[in-house]
Amino acid sequence: MSGRTGVRCEFCGREFLTAGEKAAHVVHDHSSRPFPARCPVCRVTFESPADLKAHNEGVHGAPSG
Ligand SMILES: [Zn+2]
Ligand SMILES: [Zn+2]
Repeated sequence: MSGRTGVRCEFCGREFLTAGEKAAHVVHDHSSRPFPARCPVCRVTFESPADLKAHNEGVHGAPSG
């Protein structure tokens, strides 16, 4: 039926040749579990609030709080 064999990421719309590549992309770029901390400035996610705090102070030069 379909002339295309691409698999599209439901999160960012990026297309991959195989479902395996798409799955690996989702795990790597989006992750299957929610992150507890996200930078409100650049939207980068971190696995711990401590990492986000260090990011804020190091990258944005502003202490959290
Ligand atoms: Zn994606
Ligand atoms: Zn940031």
